[in-house]
Amino acid sequence: MKTEMISVIGAGTMGNGIAHTFAQSGYSVNLIDLNLDLLTKAIQVISKNLDRQVKKEIISKTDRDVILSRIQPSVKMETAADSALVIEAATENEAVKQNIFEKLDVLCAENTILASNTSSISITKIGAVTNRPEKVIGMHFMNPVPVMKLVEIIRGHLTSDITFDHIKTLTLKLDKTPVEVNDFPGFISNRILMPMINEAIFTLMEGVASKEAIDTVMKLGMAHPMGPLTLADFIGLDVCLNIMNVMYDGLGDPKYRPCPLLKKMVAAGQLGRKTGNGFYTYEN
Ligand code: NAD
Repeated sequence: MKTEMISVIGAGTMGNGIAHTFAQSGYSVNLIDLNLDLLTKAIQVISKNLDRQVKKEIISKTDRDVILSRIQPSVKMETAADSALVIEAATENEAVKQNIFEKLDVLCAENTILASNTSSISITKIGAVTNRPEKVIGMHFMNPVPVMKLVEIIRGHLTSDITFDHIKTLTLKLDKTPVEVNDFPGFISNRILMPMINEAIFTLMEGVASKEAIDTVMKLGMAHPMGPLTLADFIGLDVCLNIMNVMYDGLGDPKYRPCPLLKKMVAAGQLGRKTGNGFYTYEN
């Protein structure tokens, strides 16, 4: 097994950022998705992001080409077999992820670590479909991955100390900051962020203040870089609702109930930036 080779499953927003980051740290990356179109798009996004780094003089033009050459796109999950580590960054759906982990468990060598970038699905549940739950772990990168320094490392109920230590060391090699988290709904990031966003939506729904006023208070009063309603539009209201539901179901506490206005906007297809319409409207 080549210890410096990793595989990333899913070449979407997060997968291409994870591939970019590992390649920049010297790893060979096998980037896997369902079809070539998706992979071509991912490579285009990575190239554009590398160009931006060249422009900002973070890397040289030669570095850019070397980094890009380290990423091998593939439509075959079998190509992950030789990797020391596989990071799954596929669509946020429990059945999809469990299916991928079942396959990886059969394909990969006994000592391969299987990580998931899930934002909300239980690492313990994902690990339970494999015969190696001690080698299954969460690596929750933040968007955009090449820029954001944090990685929440989620220990499933059966994740071993050896697996945890290995992933912590690797995260430091990527020049990122690992934070240890136990497997509970929402981990740390969403457990704290999403109720704040949900409360901002209740504040709007109850007519306490306008959307601009709510965002201004949190930006100028609390020094947040973006107001919570702007941030909700950026994340996607469907994603916010899904995570609130995961916490509501998983923790059983009414304080996590999703705001009815959030539910209504998602039902109406107003999902934020990606649909051009959320709390604010967006052109293009
Ligand atoms: P995305 O929709 O942009 O990309 C998902 C990709 O997975 C798609 O290209 C899809 O074709 C691919 N895919 C689906 N099933 C597959 C399979 N069986 N094999 C190979 N590829 C498959 O999603 P995303 O925003 O990149 O999110 C990916 C994961 O990262 C999710 O678990 C999400 O919760 C998590 N996450 C997202 C963010 C974010 O800000 N977008 C932040 C942190 C974590």
